[in-house]
Amino acid sequence: MRLITYQTDDGIQLGIVTERGVLDVAAAVASTGVDCPAGADEVYAVGSAALPALAALVEAAGDPALYRNEGDLTYGPAVPNPGKILCVGLNYQKHAAETGASPPEEPVLFSKFNNAIAAPNEDIPIQADWTRVDYESELGVVMGGTARNVSVDEALGTVFGYCNMNDISERRLQMLSGQWLLGKSLDKFLPLGPYVVTADEVPNPQNLSVKGWMNGELRQSSNTADMIFTVAEVIAYASKVMTLSPGDVISTGTPEGVIMGMADKVWMKPGDEYIVEVEGLGRLVNRMVEA
Ligand code: ZN
Repeated sequence: MRLITYQTDDGIQLGIVTERGVLDVAAAVASTGVDCPAGADEVYAVGSAALPALAALVEAAGDPALYRNEGDLTYGPAVPNPGKILCVGLNYQKHAAETGASPPEEPVLFSKFNNAIAAPNEDIPIQADWTRVDYESELGVVMGGTARNVSVDEALGTVFGYCNMNDISERRLQMLSGQWLLGKSLDKFLPLGPYVVTADEVPNPQNLSVKGWMNGELRQSSNTADMIFTVAEVIAYASKVMTLSPGDVISTGTPEGVIMGMADKVWMKPGDEYIVEVEGLGRLVNRMVEA
């Protein structure tokens, strides 16, 4: 199943992408009477437990008036209000090498806050003094269950689905102190989407191509097989110290090809566009603009 959110005059609505078009979940719940969470926040609050009801809703929603044309919609962030945003640094062999860092022996976890969430096609404002803006194409994980002290073998069973993420970073602020936070959690510096593709459609998250284009030029081209710590290992590791909950998101690290790793660094500026495409998860496009 593919979930999206989209903007309406009544706020962000949840949709399910089907062959018949995008099902308006709230309208379908109202019209069919199926007992199903009607909004994105409600679905991600319960996570994978909502999936049978969502499937029943699609089954029951026969009225063509409940479906919209995806091309007419303005996307919202794939997960509008994650409970936690966990990120993994230096998690690809070749990316660690290009930054001059040795491969970490334990996952490098850091966080962003919800102010960083942005939608596909949404403009990303860059302040004049943010002069070292960089992109990071990443596989995003959306949690579907509660994970506390789960084993590596159990970990993928707690995943709701996957989405594209761009962990946009301002390298001066990132390196200013011992904490990366400032350079990572700038407003709208984590666009995600357009789809959350449920885990049943992504049987192996460790064999997905990860690509990124800046202004049409291919900059990143790798595969999640190059991850140092797998999705399952990251979840198991984090769950040793914190409870991961439905609706939390994890950005699993970027492969090589970032500007920071180049000899000649031409940082992103207003007018630049970056596209992230993780295999099977659609295409995430954002343009930088003047703040
Ligand atoms: Zn990153």
